[in-house]
Amino acid sequence: MSSSDFIRDKIKADIESSKFGGRVHTRFPPEPNGYLHIGHAKSICLNFSIADEFGGSCNLRFDDTNPDAEDADFVDAIQEDLAWLGFEPNGEAKYASDYFEQLYTWAEDLIQKGLAYVDDQDAETISANRGGFTTPGVDSPWRERSVEENLELFRGMCAGEFDDGAKVLRAKIDMQHPNMHMRDPVLYRIKRAAHIRTGNDWVIYPTYDFAHGQSDAIEGITHSLCTLEFDDHRPLYNWVLNNLDLPHEKPEQTEFARLNLTHTVMSKRILRQLVEDGSVDGWDDARMPTLRGLRRRGYPPAAIREFIDHIGLARVDGTNEIELLESFVRTSLNKTALRRMAVLDPVKVIITNWPEGKTDLREAVNNPEDADAGTRSVPFTGELWIEREDFSLDPPPKYYRLTIGREVRLRSGYFITAQDVVTDDDGKVVEIHCTYDPETAGGQAPDGRKVKATIHWVSAEHALDANVHLYERLLTEALPGKDGQEILASLNPESRKTVSAKLEPILADVEPGQVVQFERLGYFAVDLDDTSLFHRTVGLRDEWARIQKRQNNQNKQKNQKKNKGRAPIS
Ligand code: ATP
Ligand code: MG
Repeated sequence: MSSSDFIRDKIKADIESSKFGGRVHTRFPPEPNGYLHIGHAKSICLNFSIADEFGGSCNLRFDDTNPDAEDADFVDAIQEDLAWLGFEPNGEAKYASDYFEQLYTWAEDLIQKGLAYVDDQDAETISANRGGFTTPGVDSPWRERSVEENLELFRGMCAGEFDDGAKVLRAKIDMQHPNMHMRDPVLYRIKRAAHIRTGNDWVIYPTYDFAHGQSDAIEGITHSLCTLEFDDHRPLYNWVLNNLDLPHEKPEQTEFARLNLTHTVMSKRILRQLVEDGSVDGWDDARMPTLRGLRRRGYPPAAIREFIDHIGLARVDGTNEIELLESFVRTSLNKTALRRMAVLDPVKVIITNWPEGKTDLREAVNNPEDADAGTRSVPFTGELWIEREDFSLDPPPKYYRLTIGREVRLRSGYFITAQDVVTDDDGKVVEIHCTYDPETAGGQAPDGRKVKATIHWVSAEHALDANVHLYERLLTEALPGKDGQEILASLNPESRKTVSAKLEPILADVEPGQVVQFERLGYFAVDLDDTSLFHRTVGLRDEWARIQKRQNNQNKQKNQKKNKGRAPIS
């Protein structure tokens, strides 16, 4: 892939001008306070692909500066998910906490330079005195402490002499700065909490802004790529680095638009809420936008990477349609998934002229897109399951499937004609009695007569029972939370439906996570823990093509309206 975008163009220019000695070194910096989701995948793909394209490397660095929310399990899960997505970090995983000593030393350096001070105000006061865009900031009464006093107090903070929240270390920048992040931001806070790596070694922890840039600098990162909400942190990123003696050339921060998807929430807080209130089975529920969820759902990692490559980078936030992601999933699975037959809403077909007790092994193509995938035998008998909706007693116009007196093709089987039905007391069809034409084996009639429909089937005697999860959108609104609504107000109570399906017998041999195409129904992933459970990954219809067509038509109509009444161009 050699795409071009503002970040890649900048990196090319940096290499040409020998900035950073021509090196390219990126990093992906997750906080271990949750699982990775499809949004993180954008950042991962960007950072790792850029390193790859420019002969550089990409670090995985855990931003573990907030011990309250972080957990070692997330550290492991993030590494697993990264590997699943197909990326290998440069060397061992790194941690901001690896640099706590160095960060502490740098904090003392800033104090020595008169650029940081210990403030005794509490968090609320600090926040109130920061002011706003139209209100001036108010200097802390402790802002003019001497270097000696600040050093002594900061050492006392570190030694555990003060209570949590009693003091903070702040940068001394400018309480009237137009950028709020520059109004004497907090650099260190006192917090007695066990840290996943350093245990109880520290009672003070650096803030994100006092750890991130320095961690980049320590690791020799050249291009620090982050999402747009960090745009107004950049002056602070630079201020901190400009005031320290760095081991490498100063890294440079560039922002790009985060990934947003329709019908999808990516906020960790809301995802956690869904898990905690039981709206989903867990972080790895197949409806979740987490990488674990998408994996259970059957999304090929390559499809996720291709989608992210395709949408490219922007400098303004926007939202991509989830149907576009699904079309990448479908295209990828179309090439690889074995075709199988399964009936999700079964009704019995009895073939009245079938030789009693006979099983015919029909040959069926495994994947028309892949000649190497070969064929399989599917047992055909006189009792079959077909989909209830493939039969109609009272067919609407343009219904070409099975109905009394009509002949259809059973895929890879025979032509059958419905003759009669058996119904239950409520009038529901329970058996369809059909005849078959033995001359039509393989689905062709020697006399050349045509049928308008081909339907799928499973031999009743050989069928396997399985549960299948069918999914609708987890959030019904395309843009949940739009206009200030509650995001979870659009939670779809019917996002998952479980049906008992009948499967052709070869589906006993599947691997956890394998995705197959159930003919005419869609792609289905074998559950990772239970091989008799399938998840519908995506349907077969290309919803994205439909959306594009609609958008094109709307644009055309708009243009026609615009051009109406104008003199034709001659
Ligand atoms: P929070 O800050 O709410 O805990 P986060 O999603 O920002 O959540 P981090 O672990 O800090 O989580 O994110 C790691 C990296 O992934 C960051 O560089 C962040 O910018 C990037 N990232 C997170 N969400 C997205 C997204 N939707 N699109 C692109 N990049 C993202
Ligand atoms: Mg974050």
